[in-house]
Amino acid sequence: MKGINDRPVAIAMIRGGDDYPELYGSVVFTQMKLGVLVTAEIHGLPYKGECDAGIFAFHIHEGTSCTGNNEDPFANAEGHYNPNSCPHPYHAGDLPPLFGNHGYAYMSVLTNRFRVWDIIGKVIIIHEQPDDFITQPSGNSGTKIACGQILRE
Ligand SMILES: [Zn+2]
Repeated sequence: MKGINDRPVAIAMIRGGDDYPELYGSVVFTQMKLGVLVTAEIHGLPYKGECDAGIFAFHIHEGTSCTGNNEDPFANAEGHYNPNSCPHPYHAGDLPPLFGNHGYAYMSVLTNRFRVWDIIGKVIIIHEQPDDFITQPSGNSGTKIACGQILRE
């Protein structure tokens, strides 16, 4: 669990649900002095055209399994990781959305809402829609299209 300069690291390997078999990628979490550097690289996101290139809500959820049911393939992801009982988008697990580039997204952000060891075992979810950063409890971000469990590197 050591990365650059011996900093603690965790990683989530992302896989799409049954409707998104082409979707895959990784999210790396590196504990820095001022927070956790979250770096996502995702391939195979849906692309509908220039005026709907895809913006995908992105959150750490408090569940510990990328499993679900016929209605929601990742129902067991549960709600957004929120140890301090804050409203959305001030949940600890709330992150900036992914911007698709013909199906590819790269995003890196620093957050001090958690430490890397707080999120081991939890899951990170990509949603079908943007996050409106207003609607409770999850930003009206639509279906869960991909998931990955956060594990020690
Ligand atoms: Zn949230």
